[in-house]
Amino acid sequence: MHDPAMQRKCQRIQSVLDATIGVPEVPLDHTDAYTLLIAVLLSAQCTDVRVNQVTPQLFARARTPAQMVLLSVEEIRAIIRPCGLSPQKAAAIHRLSEILLAEHASLVPNDLAALERLPGVGHKTAQVVLAQAFGVATFPVDTHIHRLATRWGLTSGSSVTQTERDLKAQFPERDWNKLHLQIIWFGRTYCPARGHDPARCPICSWAAP
Ligand code: SF4
Repeated sequence: MHDPAMQRKCQRIQSVLDATIGVPEVPLDHTDAYTLLIAVLLSAQCTDVRVNQVTPQLFARARTPAQMVLLSVEEIRAIIRPCGLSPQKAAAIHRLSEILLAEHASLVPNDLAALERLPGVGHKTAQVVLAQAFGVATFPVDTHIHRLATRWGLTSGSSVTQTERDLKAQFPERDWNKLHLQIIWFGRTYCPARGHDPARCPICSWAAP
């Protein structure tokens, strides 16, 4: 980071996030890398609250790849239906469990490229798993983080990929995982769906360009 004004802005954003959000919790309930991977996959176009309502039932039936492949795709689909996109998600969960069994000794790989090769696992999902299961420094950017980073003038907002690059360049690597979660929780806590007054926002009021 070479722009002193941007550096001051980022430090101020971090202190607001530390003061308003503090140490953020991982929002998706899980017990290990595999249950986290399944929960993150289910969270696509679904709320974390809904995922947390569905996963206890799924994990009661299967919490390892070996147990999951014993379920049919249709059985998985029936359980995860409330999360939406259930045909695609059920097929992906079944297939990725087969791949983990056959190619990764039943373990979730601690490797971005290997994770991204699994069905139903995109770049963001893979990064969330690396960060939250393995403690690898990543900065997963979803549409909410992308929108806030753009509003706060931290990126041009041209694409999610560009936003990830800009955020990684502007914040210290040791803070990436915490910031990712803090920004998600900030959005949930402070950003209503519509009709908000940016002048009263703890960050937009001074950071918006
Ligand atoms: S102005 Fe409101 S909606 Fe926009 S980032 Fe700030 S809190 Fe969220």
